[in-house]
Amino acid sequence: MLTCLESVRFPFFTGPLAYMLDRLEALPEELVITSAIDSEHVRNSAHYLGRALDIRVHDLNARAEQLARGDRILAALGDKFEVTLEEPGANRFTTGAHLHVQLLPAASWP
Ligand SMILES: [Zn+2]
Repeated sequence: MLTCLESVRFPFFTGPLAYMLDRLEALPEELVITSAIDSEHVRNSAHYLGRALDIRVHDLNARAEQLARGDRILAALGDKFEVTLEEPGANRFTTGAHLHVQLLPAASWP
């Protein structure tokens, strides 16, 4: 099941976003999107292009479990994507650990 925090916004929609939502929804675990095209991200972030989503991990205690969720997500999305565990302090906008999921910058779409 896939849910979004109330603060998550999709002011526009893209092919990569539709693809990511479709694949994430198909996973058998409960996932919460914490950011899409909203809130503050680093300059030139893929979020502003509709090519990235953030996924909650603080429901998992162990870092190894958080990384394993990232691996499952990456396996579901394929090799045009990357998944990074961003921990507090990764950049000045990162307040809580989350998985940053994005289409690779050099990837063509579709
Ligand atoms: Zn992100």
